Amino acid sequence: MPKLESILIIDDDIALTKILREELSSVGYEVEVINDSREAATRLQNEFYDLILLDLKMPEVDGFEILKELRSKEYPGKIIVLTANANVENAVLAKKLGANDFLPKPYDLDELLITIQKVLHS
Ligand SMILES: [Mg+2]
Repeated sequence: MPKLESILIIDDDIALTKILREELSSVGYEVEVINDSREAATRLQNEFYDLILLDLKMPEVDGFEILKELRSKEYPGKIIVLTANANVENAVLAKKLGANDFLPKPYDLDELLITIQKVLHS
C-alpha cells in the first residue's frame, strides 16, 4: 500500500480541527493537529508533513510567524493558509511569505479538497 499523504493542521479552534481532521482522514489523508501554536516549531523540527493547513490568528504564535520561520528554514512541505481573516492584504502577505495557497473560513469542503490536491501535486 502506498504511504498516505500527511497533513498537519495548526489552528487554535478545537471544534473546527476535530471536524476537519475527520473530514480529511475520511478521504484518506494521515492527519495530525496542533491547537497550541507554541508547539509548532518543536514538532516541525522533528517531523515532516506533506502539507500544513495553517490558521493565521492564534494566541501566542500567529500563523505569519510560523510561515516565516518555516520558509526561512526552507521547510520543503506545502502550506495552505486557512483563515477567517481572508482579506486581500493577508492573502498577499501569506503568498509573499511562502504560502502555496490561501482559503477563507468557513471553508467549503469540496473547494478545500480540490485545493489540497492541487497544491500537493503542483
Ligand atoms: Mg484562530
